[in-house]
Amino acid sequence: MSTGIYWFRRDLRLADNPGLARALAMHEAVFFVYLDEQTQAPYDASRAWLSRSLQALAADIAARGGVLNVLTGRAEALLPRLAAALGAEAVHVSTLHEPDADARDARLAKTLLHEGVRLLRNGGRVLTDADRLRSKSETVYRVFTPFYKAALGTWRHVAVEAPTHLSAVQLPEGEDWPTTEVRSPRPAWDLGFWQHSTPGERAAHLRLEAFLGEVDGYVEARDYPGQDATSRLSAHLHFGEISPGRVLAQTRAIGSAGADKFLAEIGWREFAYYVLYHWPQSTSCNFNPRFDSLQWREDPEGLSAWAQGRTGVPLVDAGMRQLWHEGRMHNRVRMVVASWLTKHMGIHWQEGAKWFMHTLVDADLANNTLGWQWVAGTGVDAAPYFRIFNPVSQSQKFDPSGEYLRRWLPELAALDNRSIHAPWMSGVSVRGYPAKPIVDLQTGRQDALDRFARTAR
Ligand code: FAD
Repeated sequence: MSTGIYWFRRDLRLADNPGLARALAMHEAVFFVYLDEQTQAPYDASRAWLSRSLQALAADIAARGGVLNVLTGRAEALLPRLAAALGAEAVHVSTLHEPDADARDARLAKTLLHEGVRLLRNGGRVLTDADRLRSKSETVYRVFTPFYKAALGTWRHVAVEAPTHLSAVQLPEGEDWPTTEVRSPRPAWDLGFWQHSTPGERAAHLRLEAFLGEVDGYVEARDYPGQDATSRLSAHLHFGEISPGRVLAQTRAIGSAGADKFLAEIGWREFAYYVLYHWPQSTSCNFNPRFDSLQWREDPEGLSAWAQGRTGVPLVDAGMRQLWHEGRMHNRVRMVVASWLTKHMGIHWQEGAKWFMHTLVDADLANNTLGWQWVAGTGVDAAPYFRIFNPVSQSQKFDPSGEYLRRWLPELAALDNRSIHAPWMSGVSVRGYPAKPIVDLQTGRQDALDRFARTAR
C-alpha cells in the first residue's frame, strides 16, 4: 500500500489545498501531521490563533474519519524518522514563500531523498509567480501599481474540493513520539482576541462571505477605524485557513468598485511576498541602503510608552491598546502608530516591527516588513521619505466623532468631539492621561525631516 505524509504548515485548510489533493490522489494512506518546531521567536498572539486554528483543523479532519497528529521537534529530525516508520514514499507540503523557510525546505528535500523519500512542494499560498513576473524590460517591480497591473492578469484560481473521507493513519507504535498540543501562551491575555474573530477554515469562509455582502461600502469605509469595515481576513490568510485563490474568485464574481478596491489590498499582500522573494534581506536591512546612515534614537522608555499606549497622542494610544487587547489593529491606525514611532520618536522601524510580530494575530513576515519599511520611508515603492502622518489630523479626519478613541481610551470618553483628538491643544487635562504628547508634534516632525535630509546629502 502506498503511504504519504501531509505536513500542514501555513495551509490549515482542507478545501483549495492543491498539495493535500495531490497527496490524497497519490497515496492510498496519508498521515497528517503538524510539527510545532518553535524555531521562530515566540510570536505570542499569533500562537494563540494557531492553537485554535489547529483545533479547528483537527476537528474537520476527524469529521471525515482522519486524524491530525501534532508533534513537537524539528522537521529534519522527525520527518525522516516518521517516513521510515510509516514506510512513506513522499512528504507533501505547501511552499511558505519565506526565504529562510524555503531554503530550509531545499535542505530538507536532500536529507529526505537520502532516505528515498521525496519532499513534494506545492503552491496555493500566493497568486503571483514571483520568479517569473517582470516588467517589459525584464526588471523586477519595485513600485506597487505597475506590479499590480501586471500581476492581476496572471492570477488564476483552480478550485479544489475538500475531501469527503480521510483515512485515519495513526502514529506508528513501538517508538516514543513527541506528541504535543499547541497551546495559547497566555490564555488570560488572549480573551479579547476572540470577541471579533474565530480561527479556522469554516470561520474564514463565513467571514469572506459576510464581508463580500458589504463590500460596496469598502471604498469609503475602509479608512475609518471606528467603522471596522474591512474584511478581517488577514490572520485567516496568514495561516492559510482560506486560499487567496478562493478570495480572488469570490471577489471577482462580484465585479464592483468595492470588490476592485478589496482585490487591490490582496494585491498588496502579493506585492509583500514578491518583495520578500526578491529582497530577502529586507526583513533586517533597509530596503534602500541610502537610509543606512539614518540616525535612530535609542529610547527604551519611549518605546515602552508607545507599546503600552501611553504616548499622550490619542490615536496612537488607542491603536496600541487595541493591538494589545484584540491582537489586531486597523490598517490606517497601523500606519499612524508606525509613523509616530519612526518619524516623531525617531525609533528604528525594526523595534516597531518586532513588537507587531509579538502582538498581532496576523503577524506575517512579508506583510509586516513591507508595512514598516513603507511607513518608515526606507522601503520599496515610491512613498516620499518625508511623508509624516500627523496623528491629530488623521484622527480628526478618520475618526471625526471620536468613536474609536472612546472605545480604547475610556479616560477620554467624556471629552467633546473637538478636544478628544488632542486634549492638550484645547487646554484640557484628563486625570490618568499624559498632559501632553511624549514628543511635541512640530519638533518631532522637524527632527524627522532633518534626519532624513542628512541622508540625502
Ligand atoms: P483588508 O482591508 O480587508 O484587506 C484584505 C487583505 O489584504 C488583508 O487581510 C491582507 O491580507 C491584505 N492587505 C491589506 N492591506 C495590506 C498591506 N498594506 N500590506 C500587505 N497586505 C495587505 N498585514 C498582515 O497581514 N500582517 C502583518 O504583520 C501586517 N503588519 C503591518 C504593519 C504595518 C506597519 C502596516 C502599515 C501594515 C501591516 N499589515 C499587516 C497590513 C494591513 O494593515 C493588514 O493586512 C490589515 O489591516 C488587516 O486587516 P483586514 O484583513 O481587515 O484588511
